[in-house]
Amino acid sequence: MKTAEWTCAKCGATNRKLVTSDTIDTVDKCVTCKTKHRLEETNRQLRWDSTAKP
Ligand SMILES: [Zn+2]
Repeated sequence: MKTAEWTCAKCGATNRKLVTSDTIDTVDKCVTCKTKHRLEETNRQLRWDSTAKP
């Protein structure tokens, strides 16, 4: 397992999601504003790119 850390594009909150080691993208919901985001792993490992879903 590894941790995907991402920043909410809407409210700026930092979120963390535990994913399996072979995961390269996933979907998570901001704990603060409940906006759904698509997350993609970057070569920076811990910090994942996030895109708000409509
Ligand atoms: Zn948010």
